[in-house]
Amino acid sequence: MKKSGKKTRMTRQKKVIMEEIKKACDHPDADTLHSRVKKKLPRISLATVYRNLEDMAAQGAIIKLSGTTQRTRYDGNSHPHYHFHCLECREIEDIPVEPLEKLDQHVGHSVNHDILWHRVDFFGICSRCGDRTDRNA
Ligand SMILES: [Zn+2]
Ligand SMILES: [Zn+2]
Repeated sequence: MKKSGKKTRMTRQKKVIMEEIKKACDHPDADTLHSRVKKKLPRISLATVYRNLEDMAAQGAIIKLSGTTQRTRYDGNSHPHYHFHCLECREIEDIPVEPLEKLDQHVGHSVNHDILWHRVDFFGICSRCGDRTDRNA
């Protein structure tokens, strides 16, 4: 077997990045995740974090979310679920409602494609931001 120190390091980096994204519940962008991963791997670059996230997303291990900003956010939970986006603080929260499987069937029938899952995003002002606005008013 060929020794490859570089390959081992890549695997360790990927493992740490994977652990961080899987335990995050705030759907971080690459920058945010980079600062968390750096606590364990101080020398890791943003480009490496970004590349690994893109790889994992391409493999379906994580999900890419287009938020309300230019920055791509990542979700370690690849099981289909709905999201709420706050237009004030830009937080993305999971919505604890099971996706409507009936909708897959309904849309599948009307377009004649095999629908496997769907994604729904809700946009608004979260309760925390709503409270802040009330206090300032
Ligand atoms: Zn908010
Ligand atoms: Zn999510």
